[in-house]
Amino acid sequence: MREEIELHGIVLSSGLQGDYDKRLVILTKERGRITAFASGVRRGTNPLQSKTQMFVMGSFKLIPGRNSYRLTGIDVDEYFHELTADIDAYCYASYFCEVMGFFTHEGMVATDYLNLLYVSMNALKKGIVSKKLIRCVYEIKLMDVFGQGIQSFSCPVCGNEELTYVFDASAGGILCKDCLKKAKAPLTLSETARYTIQYINSAPLGGLYNFSVTDEVTEEIQRVTKQFMDVYVDKKFKAADIIDSLQ
Ligand SMILES: [Zn+2]
Repeated sequence: MREEIELHGIVLSSGLQGDYDKRLVILTKERGRITAFASGVRRGTNPLQSKTQMFVMGSFKLIPGRNSYRLTGIDVDEYFHELTADIDAYCYASYFCEVMGFFTHEGMVATDYLNLLYVSMNALKKGIVSKKLIRCVYEIKLMDVFGQGIQSFSCPVCGNEELTYVFDASAGGILCKDCLKKAKAPLTLSETARYTIQYINSAPLGGLYNFSVTDEVTEEIQRVTKQFMDVYVDKKFKAADIIDSLQ
């Protein structure tokens, strides 16, 4: 029998399996996105019943198998109950988990991804920054961590650091004067919007949600992230459709 290991992470999804079991997808710091089966947890008296929910963060005790893991226990650090009690927050957090599942895979060290998810779910839980802005920040930072970030400090075409206020998704970021003609779908940004994108790109994960902007600026940044994701992410997310349908 293989030895039990302990991994730290957040449950990205939790589905039913058979009559009494659950299938979890967990983003772990140590081994990336893994699949774990929890057998018998849906029997009434099983103490793991309430811990094997989406958004639960903690230390997971697992026995590795060939393609998946068997879950034997969880020390929960945070349930994020607030995110299941509020339908809007639930939809956004579900979206964050769905997108995270797409960008991560098994066998990677996922410390930055996990920390980004944690601080973003925490921001949703606190409810100080608007959910729309949290989504923009999350998307910009996730693309950055992934290595396909919006270039906001130098021109993505020629490297010039004297930038205009024109963003172009297919060029990869904010352009300089000389490269404006290369823009396929230019978006002209306000000074605050450009600065905010630069701030998000350079801020450490712990300081990502220490600011707020007006609704107008949020909408500008939303257009930027939408165009950017459309160009670079070849996938439609179910939870994104649900968020859009709520508005
Ligand atoms: Zn340029």
